[in-house]
Amino acid sequence: MLRAHKIRLYPNNKQATYFAKACGISRFAYNWGLSEWKRRHEAGEKVTEGALRKELNAVKHEQFPWMLEVTKCAPQLAIKNDLNSAFKNFFAKRAGFPKFHKKGVHDSFSLSNDQFSVKETAVSIPKLGDVRIAESLRFAGKIMGAAISRIADKWYMAIQVEIPEPEPTHTGENQAVGVDLGIKALATLSDGTVVCGSKASRLCEKKLKRLNQELSRRKGAKKGEAQSNNFKKTKRKIARLYARMANIRMDGIHKLTTMLVKKYDLIGIEDLNVAGMMKNHYLARSIADMSFFEFRRQLEYKGSITGSRVVVADRFFASSKTCNVCGSKLDELALSVRDWTCDDCGTYHDRDVNAAINIRNYAVSSTVSACGELGEVSRSMKQELNVKLKALVRID
Ligand SMILES: [Zn+2]
Repeated sequence: MLRAHKIRLYPNNKQATYFAKACGISRFAYNWGLSEWKRRHEAGEKVTEGALRKELNAVKHEQFPWMLEVTKCAPQLAIKNDLNSAFKNFFAKRAGFPKFHKKGVHDSFSLSNDQFSVKETAVSIPKLGDVRIAESLRFAGKIMGAAISRIADKWYMAIQVEIPEPEPTHTGENQAVGVDLGIKALATLSDGTVVCGSKASRLCEKKLKRLNQELSRRKGAKKGEAQSNNFKKTKRKIARLYARMANIRMDGIHKLTTMLVKKYDLIGIEDLNVAGMMKNHYLARSIADMSFFEFRRQLEYKGSITGSRVVVADRFFASSKTCNVCGSKLDELALSVRDWTCDDCGTYHDRDVNAAINIRNYAVSSTVSACGELGEVSRSMKQELNVKLKALVRID
């Protein structure tokens, strides 16, 4: 199986300049290939990525001599990988017609595996020397290639490694768990464990609240008003803080999903963390949405490695409102109610633990009735979420 490890790079000035140039050339080649494709297509020719690369190679010495200043991978792989898959996705109706790439949006370029080598603390790139890396490569196996990209002002290298198919560690006899994702606590498990979010995350929320107040006072906050430099400055601060919050949350989710697949054979989760999303006032919805995707995506791919099964409860499944002891269902349970006592059997419930237990029971019973319903997280999941979010708004 192919795995990728994305590692932070610490290039010196010369190396960073080279990276930026290679990104520019990669983007140029992609855009050149796209317009060339359009031109040929309109002329009634059949276009292949191989023909485009051949043509670029033939003209680049004459027309684009500056392309020779960076690795030939940058323009070649931009067409062979990026443009080619953009068209493949388009023809398979997974995406719209390829668009021209803009500077500063997803800046990246690719390297084939003969163009770099990975050491303990650096990657070696011909003509560029050693570029320091933040951590050593996690996977042992054949290195297939890499992509170097920039996010804000930081550089990263995603290295693809072909690793042997791991032996599942689970035998199907271990325990089942239900997970109720939250915002304040990252998650509550059916055995009562509360997985806390980090303290840093709470500090960020406070800071975000303050920055938003600051922003509303700046000149430019009102509609139609020209944006002052201070307004832009505060906006940039908010963008950086969002990135940090997303990182912190992602880190927590990685740790949580790893722990879950190591420990449990059967993991029940909810379809979409509706309640959690509404509970929170400060954390951006988009972060909550993304972390739900990430949580499910990670659980499913990590689960496929350890042999854990993931069962997703139906979105209409009333995990919070149903008593896990006697099964009686409340008509209403306000979001502010954190604990309640069942009228029928008198059991006292912590809201989240009760929900997690119901999710676990759902997972257990659904594996008995419908085996093999798992499947990967599909590309259409994002679409699915959007539909659900719209449905939510209507319910509101
Ligand atoms: Zn009850």
